[in-house]
Amino acid sequence: MIIKKSDPMGFCFGVSRAIDIAEKLSNEGEIYCYGSLIHNVDEVERLAKRGVTTVDTLEKNMNLPILIRSHGVGKDVYAFLEENKLTYEDATCPFVKRIHEHVKKFLREGKDIAILGDKNHPEIQGIVSWGEGKIHVLADMQAVKNFHSGPELILLAQTTLKKTFFDEAVEYLSVKTKLQGINTICSATKRRQEAAENLAKEVELMLIVGGKKSSNTKKLYEICKNVNKNTFHIENIAELQVQDIGKYDIIGISAGASTPQWVIDKIVEYLQNET
Ligand code: SF4
Repeated sequence: MIIKKSDPMGFCFGVSRAIDIAEKLSNEGEIYCYGSLIHNVDEVERLAKRGVTTVDTLEKNMNLPILIRSHGVGKDVYAFLEENKLTYEDATCPFVKRIHEHVKKFLREGKDIAILGDKNHPEIQGIVSWGEGKIHVLADMQAVKNFHSGPELILLAQTTLKKTFFDEAVEYLSVKTKLQGINTICSATKRRQEAAENLAKEVELMLIVGGKKSSNTKKLYEICKNVNKNTFHIENIAELQVQDIGKYDIIGISAGASTPQWVIDKIVEYLQNET
């Protein structure tokens, strides 16, 4: 069996940075993380053992430092932290922060703003908060087609969006309105998607490793599934339950930007032992 690894795969700059911050802070003592630091259960559990406790709500009297998740948070969260003089560190990925800055600027200018993405994802929820409820979130091409834009529109994208969706939406909306499309898909996402798609085309079985809530992992899966029907999304080695894996000669592997190397290594090791 030949195992081909997609390059790049696994941790991106924003996730590595968030984990470095969490580890440095937890060396000094216990901390809270507001929201899941990254969308990977195994890594969040590893950090929990070091004293990083994930919380879903903030209290006025929290007495440990609070870390802000990599997907970012809304304006209201910063206001709460400042008002209550809580100690915090910000692990928001700079690519997400850049979207917050775009939103603040265009809002000040009174522009109509839409973003392509999933309204239930924490990244989009944070961005919507910075947009003070005035941002339109469009989940798919059907939503883009149903959207009634004003004469001018700024179009942004969730950092993990598929580039083909952004391009299609820009093409469609440009006909209906004076559109300024700003591609805010992060470069780490783009590079992982391109490499995984190319690899999926040349292997018999494609494995995508990553959290089930990880948006970029789900996109990798969709992209690869589109070119190779033998594509499977597994969270970790426990989910590697593809029957007769030994019958495949060439297996490809890619992983989402929040998948730790140690989770990938266990799967590769398992596959090597199958040969
Ligand atoms: S996938 Fe991109 S936006 Fe998300 S944390 Fe990584 S670098 Fe940042």
